[in-house]
Amino acid sequence: MNPNFLQTPIAYLKGVGPNRADTLKSELGIETYRDLLHLFPNRYLDRTSYYKINQLQPSGADVQIVGKIIHLKTVEQKRGKRLVASFVDETGQMELVWFRGHKWIRENLKLNEPYVVFGRVSKYGSTFSMPHPEMELLRNHEQGLKIAMQPIYPSTEKLSGKGITNRVVSNMVQQLILESKGNFPEPLSRPILEELKLISKADALFNIHFPKNQELLAKAQFRLKFEELFFVQLQLISKKLLRKQKIKGMPFGEVGEHFTEFFENHLPFDLTDAQKRVIKEIRNDLGSNAQMNRLLQGDVGSGKTIVALMCMLLAIDNGFQACLMAPTEILATQHYNGLKELLQPMDLKIALLTGSTKKSERTLLHNQLENGNLNILVGTHALLEDKVQFKNLGLAIVDEQHRFGVAQRSKLWHKNNTPPHILVMTATPIPRTLAMSLYGDLDISVIDELPPGRKPIKTVHRFDGNRLKVFRFIKDEIAKGRQIYIVYPLIQESEAMDYKDLMDGYESIVRDFPQPEYQISIVHGQMKPADKDYEMERFLKGETQIMIATTVIEVGVNVPNASVMIIESAERFGLSQLHQLRGRVGRGAEQSFCILMTGNKLSEDAKTRLQTMVGTNDGFEIAEVDLKLRGPGDLMGTQQSGMLNLKIADIVKDNQILKTARYHAIQLLKNDPRLEKEENAPILRAFSKMMANKTIWNYIS
Ligand code: ADP
Ligand code: MG
Repeated sequence: MNPNFLQTPIAYLKGVGPNRADTLKSELGIETYRDLLHLFPNRYLDRTSYYKINQLQPSGADVQIVGKIIHLKTVEQKRGKRLVASFVDETGQMELVWFRGHKWIRENLKLNEPYVVFGRVSKYGSTFSMPHPEMELLRNHEQGLKIAMQPIYPSTEKLSGKGITNRVVSNMVQQLILESKGNFPEPLSRPILEELKLISKADALFNIHFPKNQELLAKAQFRLKFEELFFVQLQLISKKLLRKQKIKGMPFGEVGEHFTEFFENHLPFDLTDAQKRVIKEIRNDLGSNAQMNRLLQGDVGSGKTIVALMCMLLAIDNGFQACLMAPTEILATQHYNGLKELLQPMDLKIALLTGSTKKSERTLLHNQLENGNLNILVGTHALLEDKVQFKNLGLAIVDEQHRFGVAQRSKLWHKNNTPPHILVMTATPIPRTLAMSLYGDLDISVIDELPPGRKPIKTVHRFDGNRLKVFRFIKDEIAKGRQIYIVYPLIQESEAMDYKDLMDGYESIVRDFPQPEYQISIVHGQMKPADKDYEMERFLKGETQIMIATTVIEVGVNVPNASVMIIESAERFGLSQLHQLRGRVGRGAEQSFCILMTGNKLSEDAKTRLQTMVGTNDGFEIAEVDLKLRGPGDLMGTQQSGMLNLKIADIVKDNQILKTARYHAIQLLKNDPRLEKEENAPILRAFSKMMANKTIWNYIS
């Protein structure tokens, strides 16, 4: 076969031509033979049985009938024209109906010739009717490939309107397979095929389109899903290996005085085993010759900050600077204050840079950074500005990395001649499957243990009608010396309304919690940063007992004495956001509570979210549910969802296949890193082609 056969523009396929090619391209993105071959059916219909018209039931099921059209007419109605054919077999008469594409149908349909029609029947009065049937002349049907299960392809209104029905698409694929003579190159190696008992590529392609039976369909699906995931993983893993070989990191060989001094004298608590393990993993990376790119996952409150600090000390001990970037000013400031306090007894310089840093301070800061007097810079994305130059940045840490885009991560790479080591930290647990697919080129560390003595947060769901009881509970907690958060949703599209909800809520709280007995803070996005900080400060110092806020407090804020989190309109929040919010409490030694307030009307998804929150405190478990509810695209934001543009595999449902594929990709590169072995030639050939054609998406680093 011509090696470029699959690259042939689709217009050349018999039965396609330039017009249909245009439609296929605009509607389904199909440009080449390959694209058509990889247009996989959504589902399959049983075409083994035929019905007689007098056997029809008004069940709405798809049926297949042999008969003739004896009459064709156009019926005009207020709602538009429809084309109606009288269709008969030896047992009775029914109607076939078209609302679109009349011209094409009139020109192509033959009267009084036997057809096989296929579609969904419904009953109008005493007559059965089948709208937009699949049609094929009986003699073609008998000559065609004997299909037990009819593939149903993705379609659009425009496609069927232009006569490119499912039958037509199926014929095109059939034609393509005939022309290819089933000669599809095998991209997997013999050992893999044998070990996993995979059917050949050619068999898989044939059976995914025209399955001979259920068993072969399942085998075809498994084989193609495996192949797709395998090559994605191969790309991710080879990229990671390449980076480790090619990009020299700055080896932090020394465990020097600062790290040791801090560890021995100033650590405010014993590290958990998980923290120790993660620090060791990071130290191994930093001590090697390769540049580190590590994702640190740890639930809210698991103690990522201290890990970050100790890594920064390693950088400093080896003569480098370090920076820590956080997504909001509040969080950056809090990190800065916390770190400064921890480092107090040591002779190190740390500074804060955010959007509201004054110009004079900035100039000073820039100088100190450039001449190396500053050891640690904490800040928001103000750090990324080109003006911010380091003398020798050795380690860049990004907190709550899901808030930043990949582009921002990559900007950090270029802060130095040699890229700094990069540690990204997230409290939004990413399910393992997703992490493997999205961050397969990163190393991953997990802190899967909370510091000792934490009591699990008690979470309950309350309807708005029970508000007075909830208020009473708040009063009891305040009487015990605790502090309370009350959070309102803020969703962009309805900002004005949300703002009103917040202010109404505020007023009713002020009424029920009168001064001077109760002091109340409020923080929201429309306030000036200085005012926000002032209110946060009051709450932090315990001068106010209630903090009313929008989700600005979602990330990172640490007030250990706050032990109650009330989330208003909880049904409007996503699971990961609810979990993040809940993580604001439970930071001290006291029993903490999270109360999810909702109206009475709840969608099924909302109920699942609430039940999940009430049922577990485990961020990974919550993330798995979230992934199932929302799908991978939504979960990671549109920015990253493009990377999950898989043709047949589904990283949630095909989790097990993903693991197998990843395992085999790792084994392969371990045993034959450059794919030089004869048995791996097919993989090398396919992989090089995919990379050249960018058939696999491009990751940005
Ligand atoms: P997160 O992972 O959410 O960023 P933090 O680093 O803010 O968590 O830590 C949460 C709280 O737990 C902080 O008050 C911190 O001082 C404390 N903490 C961290 N590690 C330990 C530990 N090993 N033992 C006791 N407390 C700890
Ligand atoms: Mg944190």
